[in-house]
Amino acid sequence: MSRSAHPAGPRYADVLPEGHYTAPPTDLNALDPRVWSRTVARGEDGVATVGGVKVTELAERFGTPAYVMDEADFRARCRAWREAFGRDADVFYAGKAFLSRAIVRWLTEEGLNLDVCSEGELATALAAGMPADRIALHGNNKSAREIERAVEAGVGRIVLDSFQEIARVAGIAERLGRRQRVQIRVTVGVEAHTHEFIATAHEDQKFGIALAEGQAAEAVRRAIKLDSLELIGIHSHIGSQIFDTSGFEVAAHRVVGLLKDVRDEHGVELPEIDLGGGLGIAYTSDDDPREPAEIAAALREIVTRECAAAGLAVPRISVEPGRAIVGPTAFTLYEVGTVKPLRGLRTYVSVDGGMSDNIRTALYDAEYSVGLVSRASTAEPMLTRVVGKHCESGDIVVKDAFLPADVAPGDLIAVPATGAYCRSMASNYNHALRPPVLAVHEGQARVIVRRETEEDLLRLDIG
Ligand SMILES: *Cc1c(COP(=O)(O)O)cnc(C)c1O
Repeated sequence: MSRSAHPAGPRYADVLPEGHYTAPPTDLNALDPRVWSRTVARGEDGVATVGGVKVTELAERFGTPAYVMDEADFRARCRAWREAFGRDADVFYAGKAFLSRAIVRWLTEEGLNLDVCSEGELATALAAGMPADRIALHGNNKSAREIERAVEAGVGRIVLDSFQEIARVAGIAERLGRRQRVQIRVTVGVEAHTHEFIATAHEDQKFGIALAEGQAAEAVRRAIKLDSLELIGIHSHIGSQIFDTSGFEVAAHRVVGLLKDVRDEHGVELPEIDLGGGLGIAYTSDDDPREPAEIAAALREIVTRECAAAGLAVPRISVEPGRAIVGPTAFTLYEVGTVKPLRGLRTYVSVDGGMSDNIRTALYDAEYSVGLVSRASTAEPMLTRVVGKHCESGDIVVKDAFLPADVAPGDLIAVPATGAYCRSMASNYNHALRPPVLAVHEGQARVIVRRETEEDLLRLDIG
């Protein structure tokens, strides 16, 4: 089934979709560890804590809405990916999921590399001290300035996305007297099992150069000839929120096929292969993602097997998880403003944020869960829809969610797994002030990205 987003937002008046959880969870006070970050727990007094800090204290000190990030969880996930892939592989965190200077420092300390796909992301990475050779530059239409800044800074790789870009990057590197390491991004004709708007490796799309009709082979031919480029490998990214490795299996098979053709034609074995990101996380208790160790073992096995069959040495593998690292590490803390029961339908619970801090529900029909976090409750479960405060009926945060029937204005509720693609896609719709990102660690909370102010808004509006 192909689900497409309507300009007005997802179908907001229907009932629970077929096959969806129709029964309320057995314990509404439980905070499922698959969905909530590692240090989240509910205290004796019923108040949820993260990193040992009560959410009620966070709301009081920093206001709502706020993104609350569990630093220990973020670092633990970085380490798990790093250790799973080992020394003969590289883990590039996809900065577009969420990037700030604190994040860059944590990544640097934990031994991860970083993908950026714009000048702004590159500037953030460099400002926070990520060594340039650990940065990769992506994008299907990098500007000349972006390429120049990246080459000048000495980024470890630029991932070439089109024939024009091969010539463009080569020209800039030549002018700057550099030899730039590059990969070529190919589309392998795999459509990952995911929403059509975030599946990116099937042929009909803007990213990469098709393997079909010898296009990628021609790209390699051109890149290899250019002295200012050092072609180090082939890149493929097949989609997002993927739960099994079968898509990667097909992709690796086809990429290794290209490596073999390159060896046969040019007599060189390209030393690297990048399999992209897109590994899924649990947004609700229905999702069952794989552990990094399991993913690493599967990918390594696939690449080793394909290379053995092709008679190639096993190249250095890299992966680019974004959501799988940062997604589960944060929740969005909201205060309930109104509770509106619609008889026979459901109850609408309005919070003090919405599509400006989480566009994914409206954009992709994304599913989330929600918990009452400022107190425990023994009330019956009630089917709700958590909505924002924006002037749009598609302004939905959680489409179908069970909350205790006594949920009331002033309660704090939290939506888990909002670390990826929420703050980074946040907007000022209705002149909303984008929420802060708080980092909580071992009993201490601090702001890593501050809340926007009216002054910030008016500074851009020069009258
Ligand atoms: C978006 C993207 C990623 C990260 O995707 P996630 O779903 O966050 O893991 C990795 N690589 C490339 C090239 C991307 O565009």
